[in-house]
Amino acid sequence: MTPPSTIDLRGAPLLVVGAGIMGAGIAQVAAQAGHAVWLHDAREGAAAQAKDKLAASLDALVAKGKLGSDAVAQALARITPINDLAEAAGATLVVEAIVEKLDAKRALFQQLEGLLAADAVLATNTSSISVTAIANGLKRPERLVGMHFFNPVPLMKLVEVVSGLHTDAAIAEAVFALGLHWGKTPVHARSTPGFIVNRIARPYYAETLALLHERAATPTVLDACLRAVGFRMGPCELMDLIGHDTNFSVTQSVYEANFQDKRYQPSGVQRDLVDGGLLGRKSGRGFYDHRPGAVNPVLPAFEPAAVPVGGLLRVMGHGPVADRLAAALTQLGRVFQRKEHSDWVGLDIDDAQLRLTDGRCASEIGVNVAVFDLPMQPAGAEPGQPLAWALSGRATEAWAEKVPRWLMALGFHPQRVADTPGLVVARTLAMLVNEAADAVLQGVCTPEGADAAMKLGVNYPAGPFEWLARWDAASVVRLIEGLDAGYCGERYRVSPWLRQQAWQAAARQEGQP
Ligand code: NAD
Repeated sequence: MTPPSTIDLRGAPLLVVGAGIMGAGIAQVAAQAGHAVWLHDAREGAAAQAKDKLAASLDALVAKGKLGSDAVAQALARITPINDLAEAAGATLVVEAIVEKLDAKRALFQQLEGLLAADAVLATNTSSISVTAIANGLKRPERLVGMHFFNPVPLMKLVEVVSGLHTDAAIAEAVFALGLHWGKTPVHARSTPGFIVNRIARPYYAETLALLHERAATPTVLDACLRAVGFRMGPCELMDLIGHDTNFSVTQSVYEANFQDKRYQPSGVQRDLVDGGLLGRKSGRGFYDHRPGAVNPVLPAFEPAAVPVGGLLRVMGHGPVADRLAAALTQLGRVFQRKEHSDWVGLDIDDAQLRLTDGRCASEIGVNVAVFDLPMQPAGAEPGQPLAWALSGRATEAWAEKVPRWLMALGFHPQRVADTPGLVVARTLAMLVNEAADAVLQGVCTPEGADAAMKLGVNYPAGPFEWLARWDAASVVRLIEGLDAGYCGERYRVSPWLRQQAWQAAARQEGQP
């Protein structure tokens, strides 16, 4: 463990360079925490304009009673817009939030090294450039660290404290402590493409884009299934909000930075949207039509169906999903058997199977087989949550007709999708967990750091390792192996970290040390 830093940045005179959306937010948070802040922008007058804008928005919060007028006046008085960087020579901390270009950032820090005291701490708010690369060429590269805020800075709690190869651990610790002092939740990250959030989040978009590419389901169904797990927005509506141009360019940069690793490969579906100017909300159309008065498809209302008449009913396997099925059958007043020792989870209904996806297609498993998605709804979710399912291509019509009725009777709102490996939620969560596992393996962050980052940086309902704790490593490994077998590429590689977890869990189950 790194010892607490002896560098105390609380109250340090601060220079913020770049008075755009991020720089203004950082200046506000620092001034509210008591720092004297110099705000500089290369564009003449931009820093003063940013301060005026900030004053107007803080005054609006005072008018709503959310902030005290004295506190706002004091915070604003601490911010000094400057046109000449030399006026901030007394700063002992810099946070840079200028244009996202390596050369511009390097040149700025080299200039600052000539201006500020040798022990000044240099922080960059870059969202995608290597901190190691920005530090290259500095006289004191060990004093540079990433301080990656999220937009809007005053509201978003997460700060990724990013260490490059040169970064002195004491500097990273000092910035971490400062983040805490500012009321943020800092998380340490190693400088690797996408840091934590922008890296681990890639599969949330990529798996949906892959499903759309093979026309497995519509955006409406995919979004509904993922919202049912607790995500505030489905991937399609979220990409429409972010803007396909922005989302595509982040994906491209992570892909290139990883030497074109197939796991991060951008999607032709999204490239087409970008090429067509269908950028999402900002251009009026993306996956959805956002123009005034537009009507977009919605799921039909959930109507619980009559329980199909069945002969012998068996709940197969063990764990939360098997327990949930057993509880639903009990509530329906149905007589059933339990067969806990089974290599699959689900319902055996006479000669047909309704199985939790294990990553294989229904057609691969058998004739009268349907697979359903991972029902990972948050506690207290209403019955009738959308759940994807798929049918074996060899199933009888009678079984095809019964499956959605069974799923409805069990409390789900069934959404039929193509017979594709891992369906929707299971596939997406498995790949999010896998990405997070690789990030931990590579020392990018800790499991706790990944969970905090994903919940606070992109509002995920749970962190990847929290999902893993509610699922199990062996099932995640099996699911990704199913995807790998289905797509035969390099994309679905199980993280060695996850495999280790699965082996250790299996050994524990067998009573081995
Ligand atoms: P922005 O375009 O709103 O602001 C950038 C400002 O920097 C502009 O006012 C510009 O005039 C100024 N500038 C450009 N070059 C300069 C230089 N050499 N010296 C001084 N000022 C200069 O951009 P932003 O969204 O605030 O992003 C700033 C940085 O923060 C980027 O590195 C970006 O990747 C990162 N970031 C952005 C977000 C976001 O959601 N916008 C989130 C996290 C990190």
